Amino acid sequence: MIGARAVDGSPLFICDIYMENKTKRIPIPYKTKSLLQKEISSTCPFCSNEDVDHFHFHHIDENPKNNNVSNILMLCPICHSKITKGDIAREEVEQKKTRYKHEQEGYCPIRTGNISFDF
Ligand SMILES: [Zn+2]
Repeated sequence: MIGARAVDGSPLFICDIYMENKTKRIPIPYKTKSLLQKEISSTCPFCSNEDVDHFHFHHIDENPKNNNVSNILMLCPICHSKITKGDIAREEVEQKKTRYKHEQEGYCPIRTGNISFDF
């Protein structure tokens, strides 16, 4: 399966192949994956690993059928296993996700002063 291609000719993620062969999970749509990769700026939210080709998709509510962007956090395999083992708490995962969401919405948690425009 190495070098497998999607119908549109784009290379498949390694985890796509893994999920198709090993589990009954519903594959995450390509569009969702690209959004998730953009969300984390191609860097693991927990350890700054940038090897996105090997990143996993963690379902925050642990429901593999919930492929909503807000339910999935992309991260490196090491940190994913830490979540699975409980070394990283679910609250911490949710906090990261909330922070990214706010960043996308242009929400600024730290206001340093009023912005004024003097023309
Ligand atoms: Zn990591």
